[in-house]
Amino acid sequence: MSFELPKLPYAYDALEPHIDARTMEIHHSKHHAGYTSKLNDAIAGTDAEGKSIEEILKNINNYSGAVRNNGGGYYNHCLFWEVMSPNGGGEPGGDLGDAIRRDFGSFNEFKTQFSNAAATQFGSGWAWLCKHDNGKLEVCGSPNQDNPLMPGVGCGGHPILGIDVWEHAYYLNYQNRRPDYIQAFWNVINWDKVNENFRG
Ligand code: MN
Repeated sequence: MSFELPKLPYAYDALEPHIDARTMEIHHSKHHAGYTSKLNDAIAGTDAEGKSIEEILKNINNYSGAVRNNGGGYYNHCLFWEVMSPNGGGEPGGDLGDAIRRDFGSFNEFKTQFSNAAATQFGSGWAWLCKHDNGKLEVCGSPNQDNPLMPGVGCGGHPILGIDVWEHAYYLNYQNRRPDYIQAFWNVINWDKVNENFRG
């Protein structure tokens, strides 16, 4: 059994003007496809074959650097595509909206913390909203293709929302203006999906 590149749940140009079609096409069909095929190569013949991606990531110290980088890349992008939508934006309702107000004080305070984590992640990496086993929410960042499912990374919670801040995620349209890309991301967040992730 091997991992497969998921289809995007919308067209490459669906997130314009916030994220441009060319960036989405290269990001999905080249970058994510590359992580997927290299992950399959890296697990071939190891005991990771047949395991779920989450199980692999939770035990990542048992595996090679190639499994870490490409397994993280595979998982992170699968989550990333799903938490965006052309009908996204606004503020979350439901259980997630309540939990954000409970744990951050307000949606705006959460937005500030998440944006700061994304803006201050040095070099390539991700910012996350995570849910801990006790239900508490926390924001963190991680370098490269690491994520908080991996032991010792970030806040150690379960990612329910993530933003890719590698330059390949925004450079064609935003060049060095990462803060503008982060600002635009708020217009495409699929809160229904993040709520679903939160309910687990
Ligand atoms: Mn990426």
